[in-house]
Amino acid sequence: MKSYKTIIIGGGISGVAAANELYESKSDFLLLEKKDVLGGLSTQYKHNDIYFDYSGHYFHFYKSSEAKSFVEKVLNLKTYKRLCKTHIYEKMINYPLQFHLSELDKDKADRVFKEMMAREERESISFDNMKEAFLHNFGQTLYNDFFYPFFMKYYRCSPQEITPGLYKGSIPVPSKDEVVLGYKGTKKLDTGYNATFLYPVNSSRELFDFYHKKFKENIILNSEVIKVDIDTKTLVTKNGEIYKYENIINTAGLKEFAQNIQEGLPICQYAEKLRNVSTFIFNCLLKSKLSDFSWAYLSDKDNIYYRAGYYPGDNVRCYLEASGKDNSPREYDEEKLFQEALKALKKCNMISDKDDILDYNIKFVPISYIIFDKNRESCTRIILEKLEKNNIYSCGRFGRWIYSSMGEDVLDGIKIAKKILTM
Ligand SMILES: Cc1cc2nc3c(=O)[nH]c(=O)nc-3n(C[C@H](O)[C@H](O)[C@H](O)COP(=O)(O)OP(=O)(O)OC[C@H]3O[C@@H](n4cnc5c(N)ncnc54)[C@H](O)[C@@H]3O)c2cc1C
Repeated sequence: MKSYKTIIIGGGISGVAAANELYESKSDFLLLEKKDVLGGLSTQYKHNDIYFDYSGHYFHFYKSSEAKSFVEKVLNLKTYKRLCKTHIYEKMINYPLQFHLSELDKDKADRVFKEMMAREERESISFDNMKEAFLHNFGQTLYNDFFYPFFMKYYRCSPQEITPGLYKGSIPVPSKDEVVLGYKGTKKLDTGYNATFLYPVNSSRELFDFYHKKFKENIILNSEVIKVDIDTKTLVTKNGEIYKYENIINTAGLKEFAQNIQEGLPICQYAEKLRNVSTFIFNCLLKSKLSDFSWAYLSDKDNIYYRAGYYPGDNVRCYLEASGKDNSPREYDEEKLFQEALKALKKCNMISDKDDILDYNIKFVPISYIIFDKNRESCTRIILEKLEKNNIYSCGRFGRWIYSSMGEDVLDGIKIAKKILTM
């Protein structure tokens, strides 16, 4: 039986970043990936010779030069200015909606303006859930007509079930001065954490091909880990291979890992409470570019898609995202996804009729967004602590069961690898 100081489960961006750190420090490790390629959700796949993301994957590194250099060492990234829209009341309004009230019809604008100006502005207001936060910051009309229906499509549950932990500044709140400016017609398009973003000039696949080549001796593809035994410190793959480890870096979804993979730790009851949604991605190639936005948010109740966007680049590729409920993997069939896509693309002025779609394909991501309900924080804390006591370090978006970006996942992988190196 082969034995390793570290075994990494999963070769997405967090697992590959961790592997690179261990490789550079000449620490012995093995990376096991269940699919036949590295990259997880951060890579691209080819459909009829065209590359597609698992829906728009844009890089933004905040202030992290370490994550940036891990990616930019390989990928040629181009910077784009985000130009986003919100589809509401059958109109496309500049994003963030709450900063652009003048673009609403006059009676709606007046009502929302009044509601937003009536709020109390205090630094330290704490909210119990997202409904409270939305109502306080944006008022009843925007809550009823945008935030509530949007959340019901995106998270498949009410904002009342979601804790403000999700917030993290990703939904910008205008000051009263900014509300006035937006009501009078001043545009504020550069608000929020992703006002600009980076996107590969070629394909994000290059990143994973590069690192695969760099430490290919340490990688086994098509190798799904199905059991981890903490007493014997061994793990088993679906192919029947058994490996001994000192440490594990786990990037597989925490829920599945805690419920099915590890043996011997009483953490199932906490894992059972973790919730997520799945995502249906409708990727397509269009005849021509009829609109010029980066992506748009759709709150309309009569359509399943909540986001539509263009991939940057020469040919006109675009994507739509719809959420599926936790534990009901194939809620929509292909025909439904196609018919709904036609409606959404028309609403967003991306096509004028069906013939504008030259080709399409559909991907299903079973775990895509984590639901930040009242159980998430305590359950993940207990599970992660128990795993760490047994030298299992979970990292990345799904390993930690968080909302994170690719840049944050790179940093997380590097951080965990560094921790192991000091042991
Ligand atoms: C719809 C959508 C849009 C997004 N858009 C953006 C964006 O624009 N910008 C951004 O920065 N981030 C975006 N993200 C987030 C981004 O996808 C993740 O943060 C990132 O891909 C997570 O990387 P990871 O390596 O932690 O996990 P993953 O990419 O999920 O990698 C985990 C790997 O582990 C493998 N694996 C799982 N179980 C096992 C097992 N038992 N044994 C062996 N291998 C296993 C999987 O096959 C996979 O390759 C988006 C996410 C979604 C769902």
